[in-house]
Amino acid sequence: MSNNHYDVIVIGTGAGGGTIANKLAVAGKKILILERGDFLPREKDNWSSPAVHGEKKYQTKEVWRDADGKEFNPQQHYYVGGNTKVYGAALFRMRAEDFGETLHHEGISPAWEMSYAELEPYYAAAEQLYGVRGNRGEDPTEPWSSAGYLYPAVSHEPRIKQLAEDFTAQGLTPFHVPLGIMRDNDDPLSKCIRCDTCDGYPCLVQAKADAEVVAINPVLGYPNVTLLTNALVTNLETNPTGSEVTAVNVERNGDQLKYTADVFVISCGAINSAALLLRSANDKHPRGLANSSDLVGRHLMKHNNSIMLAVSRCEVDTVYQKTLGVNDFYFASDAWEYPMGSITFVGGVDGATLAAHAPAIVPGFTLEMMARRALAFWLMSEDLPDPNNRVTLAEDGSIILTYRENNTQAHERLKEKTKELMNHQRKCDIHGSGCHVGVFASNIHVSQKIPVAGVAHQNGTLRFGGDAQTSVLDLNCRTHDVKNLYAVDSSFFPSSSALNPGLTIMANALRVGEHLLAVMR
Ligand SMILES: Cc1cc2nc3c(=O)[nH]c(=O)nc-3n(C[C@H](O)[C@H](O)[C@H](O)COP(=O)(O)OP(=O)(O)OC[C@H]3O[C@@H](n4cnc5c(N)ncnc54)[C@H](O)[C@@H]3O)c2cc1C
Ligand code: SF4
Repeated sequence: MSNNHYDVIVIGTGAGGGTIANKLAVAGKKILILERGDFLPREKDNWSSPAVHGEKKYQTKEVWRDADGKEFNPQQHYYVGGNTKVYGAALFRMRAEDFGETLHHEGISPAWEMSYAELEPYYAAAEQLYGVRGNRGEDPTEPWSSAGYLYPAVSHEPRIKQLAEDFTAQGLTPFHVPLGIMRDNDDPLSKCIRCDTCDGYPCLVQAKADAEVVAINPVLGYPNVTLLTNALVTNLETNPTGSEVTAVNVERNGDQLKYTADVFVISCGAINSAALLLRSANDKHPRGLANSSDLVGRHLMKHNNSIMLAVSRCEVDTVYQKTLGVNDFYFASDAWEYPMGSITFVGGVDGATLAAHAPAIVPGFTLEMMARRALAFWLMSEDLPDPNNRVTLAEDGSIILTYRENNTQAHERLKEKTKELMNHQRKCDIHGSGCHVGVFASNIHVSQKIPVAGVAHQNGTLRFGGDAQTSVLDLNCRTHDVKNLYAVDSSFFPSSSALNPGLTIMANALRVGEHLLAVMR
């Protein structure tokens, strides 16, 4: 057998691909990891807002189109580690209820054909691998767990602690967000320096538990592991009957290369994995590889997300805000008979970030002044799987995203509820009630809905299930149509919950990795 033949080829090194590669590498499988990007350079610009948010230095320059043909630049990061290189590392388990059917204002969030109990051991393993820091039992919606966190939660700074107390006084149950940053509270030698350029930025000191740092780098010295960077997989080839993938074709530094394996795992991110299958159409798979169901690319979800700034007259003296969460409106509640979603924070904002994302919103404030007075909430509500929200290809093979928002009232209510909560904060010691009048009236709430290019939480395009008519992947995330082809990125989600997807992708990748090790024995 040639040197170019592997036990497993893994395509993509993000939350899914990086994690399964780690699992297979440690078990001794001969694996080839193909990543279209390079290692993200370590340089001062990693923590520069003008570079990261203004120039979008680390975001792909690719152009995609929406259903009306309007071009946009997607929030995709093609590096070893994928989108986790810039993620906020809020590493939540989905709620146990999210695995069942949930009634929302605009319809049903379908059940997964896998229970929370089945995924739970892999959540525990993913939390260990990514070193998640948290406090069990604080979040009333948190599902049961078989293991504690390895480390205590990252502590609140005084202003965030005060906010938590104010929320508690209003009858809520705020909690510490589980985080994958390498920060030991009060330890001056902590790898993480607790900075204000985390969420949306690469970590200059490699202290963020991203897929490169945690999953890929530790196995690079293994004799059974080969990583090829700058290796864009253009399509997959099958045998004449179309029953198995036989090879991947790769463009690398101007060369056309071909690699073979027993098993192929795609993990290019939900949108690119669907696009890769569509680009791999052949005469046995005329609508796209593994697409007998015509579901490849459909049911795209990406959450209804907003950043909401609560601006006050007092300066907000914080560095890293991301430690606080509120899930009291996650399910149907006294506040509304349907779920609204989750309230957390982005790491922090500054003037350059606002200039890039929220221009000209409040007259009389400079953006820098505004940023210094802002609490920056990240509001997330569930969007529902709609077969018409989908990935398709233009004639030149580029990506078209058709996405119509749904379940938006849940999100509007979550925004209103957050404003209401902020309007009941305690009066400040310095300005008294004067803190809340005049130009700085009340708390000025500015919210910006994340546009179509905001595909950070993309999922659902190759949904898994037991029935080949209604799903692309089976319950082991193997395609129903092609017996040695798997997908382990966020494409397998049948519904999206209203929590960050990363930990669920990692846990599932460990689950599928274990399955592969069992069947390849
Ligand atoms: C700014 C930001 C903040 C976020 N914050 C959080 C958070 O706090 N918590 C959380 O849980 N999630 C967060 N997310 C989302 C999280 O990063 C993603 O859900 C996760 O990375 C998705 O994992 P994936 O494996 O599906 O895809 P990705 O991580 O995107 O990995 C896909 C990989 O495939 C590679 N690739 C694509 N196409 C090809 C090809 N044809 N050939 C070879 N390689 C290819 C890409 O370069 C990439 O490395 C955030 C995302 C962003 C952008
Ligand atoms: S807060 Fe910590 S993990 Fe995040 S970018 Fe700063 S140093 Fe890195």
